Amino acid sequence: MLIFKKIQPLQQHLSSITNNQFIGFVPTMGALHKGHLSLIKEAKKENQTVVASIFVNPTQFNNTSDLKNYPRTIDTDIELLKSEGCDIVFIPTIDEMYDHIKSEHFDFDGLDNVMEGRFRERHFDGVGTIVKRFFEIIKPHNAYFGEKDFQQLQIIKKIVSKLGLTIKIIGCEILREDDGLAMSSRNTLLTEEQRKNASFIYKTLKEAKLQFKNHSPHNIINWVKDQFENHPFFKLEYFQIVDEKTLLDIKEKDNTKKFRAFIAVFANNVRLIDNIEL
Ligand code: AMP
Repeated sequence: MLIFKKIQPLQQHLSSITNNQFIGFVPTMGALHKGHLSLIKEAKKENQTVVASIFVNPTQFNNTSDLKNYPRTIDTDIELLKSEGCDIVFIPTIDEMYDHIKSEHFDFDGLDNVMEGRFRERHFDGVGTIVKRFFEIIKPHNAYFGEKDFQQLQIIKKIVSKLGLTIKIIGCEILREDDGLAMSSRNTLLTEEQRKNASFIYKTLKEAKLQFKNHSPHNIINWVKDQFENHPFFKLEYFQIVDEKTLLDIKEKDNTKKFRAFIAVFANNVRLIDNIEL
C-alpha cells in the first residue's frame, strides 16, 4: 500500500493509472473499525485502485472539544487498510487541504436544515467543502459512503448532481457490533458502563420500526421520547421519522415513499447517531 501525505505526488501517481481502470475512493476520519473496512471491501469489488483518505476535517466540527477529543489511531489505521488490500492511503495535513480553514457555502436544497444540520451548525458546509476538495484531487470514478451517516450520503449525492460531477456515489449498509450498536469511532470514547448499555439505542430503533406498521409517527416519536426520559446513560437529542429523499418529517404514510427513522443521543459529551429503514 502506498502512503501519500502530499497532493502533488499522489496526483502524479494517479495520473499514471491507465484510462480504462477505475479508481474507488473511501474518505474517512480515521480511528478505523470494521464499518470503514466494509467500505474498502465494497470499493475493491468495483475498482482496480482503491484510495482511502484519513483526515479529521476541522471545518465540519462545530464543537472544539469534540474535534480535540476525536480518536486518532493512525498506525493501526494504516495496518488495517493494508490488511484489507487498500492500494493507496492519503493522509494530508490541514495546511495541505486548506489555504484558509474556512468552509464554502453550499445550497443543498434544504437537506442541511434538519437533523445533523440543525444541531451541528454549518457541519454540512464543512463536509461539502472537504469532500469536493478530495474529489477534485483524486478524481475517482466511484466514491463510497456509509448509511450510518445517511444524511451525509444524501448531501454528497446532492453536491455531485449540482456540480454535474460524473462520480458515482455508493451507499453502504451500516455495520453493527454484536449487540446492535452501530460501529463508530466515537464508541471508543464511551465508558464501560455506557458501552454496555448502548445497545439500547438500536433496540429502540428496531422497536420503532415494528411500531411503524400500525402506529402513527406522532405516537412513535412520543414513545421514543418516553424511553429516554430520565435514562441513566443517554440523553435524546432528536428522534425523527422522515422521507428518505427530502429528509423532511413524515406527514402521512405513503407506500410510494421510503421512510427512515433517525436518532442522535448524548452519553455525557459523546454524541452517537444511528438510523433505520422503516
Ligand atoms: P468517518 O470516519 O466517521 O467520517 O466515516 C467514514 C465513512 O465510514 C463514512 O462514509 C461513514 O458513513 C462510514 N461509516 C462509519 N461508520 C460506519 C458503519 N458502522 N457502517 C458502515 N459505514 C460506516
